[in-house]
Amino acid sequence: MKRKRIVVLGATGSIGESALKVAHDIPDRMEIVGLAANSNALKLAAQANQVRPEAICLVDESRVGELRAALEYEPQIFSGERGLVEIACLAEAEMVLVAVVGTGGLQPALAAIEAGKDLAVASKEILVMAGEIVMREAGEKGVQILPVDSEHNAIFQCLDSQRERPTPNPPSPGTGSAVASVQRPTFNEEVRRLILTASGGPFRNTPASEFEGITVEQALKHPTWNMGPKITIDSATLFNKGLEMIEAHWLFGVEMKRVEVVVHPQSIVHSMVEFSDGSVLAQLSHSDMCFPIQYAVTWPERVPNSLPPLDFGKLRQLEFATPRSDDFPALNLARRAGETGGTLPAVLNAANEVAVSAFLARRISFPRIWQTVSAVMEKHANVAHPDLDAILRADQWARLEAQKQAGD
Ligand code: NDP
Ligand code: MG
Repeated sequence: MKRKRIVVLGATGSIGESALKVAHDIPDRMEIVGLAANSNALKLAAQANQVRPEAICLVDESRVGELRAALEYEPQIFSGERGLVEIACLAEAEMVLVAVVGTGGLQPALAAIEAGKDLAVASKEILVMAGEIVMREAGEKGVQILPVDSEHNAIFQCLDSQRERPTPNPPSPGTGSAVASVQRPTFNEEVRRLILTASGGPFRNTPASEFEGITVEQALKHPTWNMGPKITIDSATLFNKGLEMIEAHWLFGVEMKRVEVVVHPQSIVHSMVEFSDGSVLAQLSHSDMCFPIQYAVTWPERVPNSLPPLDFGKLRQLEFATPRSDDFPALNLARRAGETGGTLPAVLNAANEVAVSAFLARRISFPRIWQTVSAVMEKHANVAHPDLDAILRADQWARLEAQKQAGD
């Protein structure tokens, strides 16, 4: 048995906290060697004092003094955006868990790939923005991209049964054999559909006529998952599922038209794969991110833990329904962005981020989130097969445009 040495970017967030729990639960398999956060100096210090990684990073340089004062030992301290890239390349680390909300994880993720680290990716933003680049670079470097997002981790688990190990990532469309790992040539013929499950969020049954009056408090009450505020709002608009469709497309190299969404309010089935013979495999567990984080860390092996097993006697029912795409336009907007490709997914992602902030600050109404995203997408002059600079320029353009649209 080997302990995997891991750097956690976004340690103080919801995924970061779960990662610390997993490390505590399976100490023989997981060792945290680096922790990074944005500005929450006291929480980062408390985590570091508990876990004792050799390196930590706080992006907000103005709070490093506060961090230092609260530490009970002397780790190496990085700071600033540069520091985040440096800790992602830490010599001792084998894997980097990217769990930064927003787009701040992209550059460190690319640097970690370049440094030969495997990535466990929770930050779907980086695959939505730059999936083509991330998968190509990972293929060229021969590093693994292990999905942590519960749906993608579920699909990854279902696909695992299909493949010779160790092969997590099939070729992305257009990249052919550039992706390292041994591949089954028939992967795309064997997989008919990827079916992402969505809880439907708190407004699954709310009539569209009531959307205008939805409050921040109502939107932050997720029925099944306990997550950070940005992704919780995305779950309410279904933009989260839209982003996940694009994420799946890049991770698994499956065209957008074969990535579907089904509403499953209990969040027990985390996603499914339908194969060419009509058989469907699903992955089930309680809705706790410790499950997918652990699998990403121990893959391709499975190890016991203290997480609760499913009690099928108590589950009673698992429901499935078609999403209300007309009432929740996020799904169609994301499908269009994913099918068009180029810089449009980055534009959708950035415009949505700005609109969600404006909604959380009570400056715009709930439906204005997707109206803003749609308006910004309409105005965008798309760039096909963009390089990183073009993606970052599109991201910046979309943020400014969304601020105008949202009346900021
Ligand atoms: P949270 O808001 O709970 O936490 C965000 C984390 O990112 C914090 O540690 C924060 O630090 C850090 N952070 C924010 N901005 C930066 C930055 N510019 N540079 C470095 N660190 C930064 O988010 P979640 O944990 O909910 O989500 C993290 C990512 O995982 C998102 O991409 C989300 O989509 C994805 N994800 C989350 C799931 C969940 O269950 N929560 C499920 C599936 C995917 P600080 O505390 O200092 O601000
Ligand atoms: Mg998810």
